[in-house]
Amino acid sequence: MEFISAEKLQQKAVEEYNKIKDKIVNDILTIKERMAIEQQEMPAQDPKIRAKNMSEVATGYTKEQAIVEANRCLQCKTQPCVAGCPVSVPIPEFLAAVSKGEFKTAVDIIKTTNLLPAICGRVCPQEKQCQEQCTVGKTYKDAEKAVSIGRIERFVADYERENNLETIPAVAEETGKKVAIIGSGPAGLTVAADVRRAGHSVTIFEAFHKTGGVMVYGIPEFRLPKAIVAKEVEILEKMGVEFRTNFLVGRTNTLTQLLEEKGYDAAFIGTGAGLPKFMNIEGENLIGVFSANEYLTRANLMKAYDEDKAATPLYPAKHVVVCGAGNVAMDAARMALRLGAEKVDIVYRRTRNEMPARREEIAHAEEEGVNFRFLENPVKILGDEQGKVCGIVCLDYELGEPDESGRRSPVAIPGSEHEFACDAVIVALGNGSNPLMVQTTPGLEANKWGQIIVDDNGKTSIDKVWAGGDIVLGAATVILAMGEGRKAAASINEFLKNR
Ligand code: FAD
Ligand code: SF4
Ligand code: SF4
Repeated sequence: MEFISAEKLQQKAVEEYNKIKDKIVNDILTIKERMAIEQQEMPAQDPKIRAKNMSEVATGYTKEQAIVEANRCLQCKTQPCVAGCPVSVPIPEFLAAVSKGEFKTAVDIIKTTNLLPAICGRVCPQEKQCQEQCTVGKTYKDAEKAVSIGRIERFVADYERENNLETIPAVAEETGKKVAIIGSGPAGLTVAADVRRAGHSVTIFEAFHKTGGVMVYGIPEFRLPKAIVAKEVEILEKMGVEFRTNFLVGRTNTLTQLLEEKGYDAAFIGTGAGLPKFMNIEGENLIGVFSANEYLTRANLMKAYDEDKAATPLYPAKHVVVCGAGNVAMDAARMALRLGAEKVDIVYRRTRNEMPARREEIAHAEEEGVNFRFLENPVKILGDEQGKVCGIVCLDYELGEPDESGRRSPVAIPGSEHEFACDAVIVALGNGSNPLMVQTTPGLEANKWGQIIVDDNGKTSIDKVWAGGDIVLGAATVILAMGEGRKAAASINEFLKNR
């Protein structure tokens, strides 16, 4: 798709807005007229410039763009979009407010069910959630033409933050009950907010020196600015939530110690899925092979790109190979470009059609210059005499019959082994559960993948302990982690009310 500058998109929106302004004010836009409004594209930095900087790629809607886009909503009585949102944001209601320019009202409506709209508006896979169900997209038989719910959600949340209109949620009278939350990702932060609102004292224990979980150490700055996550944490602090960083539960203290010796009345485990998966091929221990997690953590959390200040060194690499084709692979590849790589190849054993990453992320990676090598898979990583990566050996593949996931399965072509030079390899094949909590908490049950087993309320197999987010679902999404958190928090509040 041709890149259109932010200025042009914004100018077009002003013209469109001026055309329909009177009808908006008098609330007389017909369904036909709403359907005829052109979808507002998200303004973005020029790909050539952004591929070398860490600033946010998508720069966000203007007021006019938000209003015009919100007027595409048909206010369907059956609200199919709401059913597609894991936390049931009242979408038609907030869009109706935006369509009239009432941005603060809109964000207040969203926050009745979603506490982190600036984050979800940016990172939710909307095309598979709220927007997939939208009547407008269905009418066009193209989900990408749906009302851009996520972009508008982001706009109103940014409007609130940038204009200092945020309000600190009210906290009920202190109950004297103490709740421990393990992990400060979206699941833990959501539980903290809901449990604190009920008047309980809340401490979040976080292994890293910074709070926010994957939103801070995994998702790159150019997709989710860390200042936005920090602002959400600041609000929790103002509500009275205590944060204990550099505290690894299972080592610094066990969960049992927190409950039995430190007097916590309940606990929530939101430790995520931070254990990287590897390919188990020869050469994976060479210098210059990284898991995507380590690579992104070095860049995001340790700010390795800030070469003059960062204590964590950057691995200098000019030709980087990324193995995998999901969103994490796209993030790692785009980060490698920003960290100075001249060439970045994504190696994937299927084709573009089977790639699990979001289409938007694939398009952004491609625009920035990431190269895709389809129907290839690594079998060996090559090292030089110093033990550093110097190349990779791959096999060619073809597509066979569909497997249980419905995607055509990759079949290796015998004798197709070939090698090419590279100086770093990033393995982005997904993440599993860290076994530490289960290993150090007697009676805490997990399934064969290490995911903690919970009931419908997020309650685990042991007394006073709930769990949610990726540690229960496997690697999932921010909004699903938040949904799990809300459910568990309601159950914790109910439990503490009766004690
Ligand atoms: P996490 O966010 O993983 O947070 C868990 C926290 O617990 C971490 O801070 C960890 O340090 C801490 N912790 C772990 N063990 C302990 C312990 N024993 N003691 C104390 N603290 C501990 N989702 C989307 O919706 N959209 C995206 O665009 C998207 N992009 C992603 C990109 C990357 C690179 C990755 C890795 C994931 C992405 N995801 C995305 C997935 C999403 O970030 C996760 O699903 C979500 O963060 C899970 O939330 P959580 O609260 O369960 O856990
Ligand atoms: Fe859509 Fe996510 Fe917002 Fe729900 S939270 S409405 S899924 S963008
Ligand atoms: Fe609006 Fe689409 Fe939801 Fe209908 S389905 S109310 S058009 S956002």
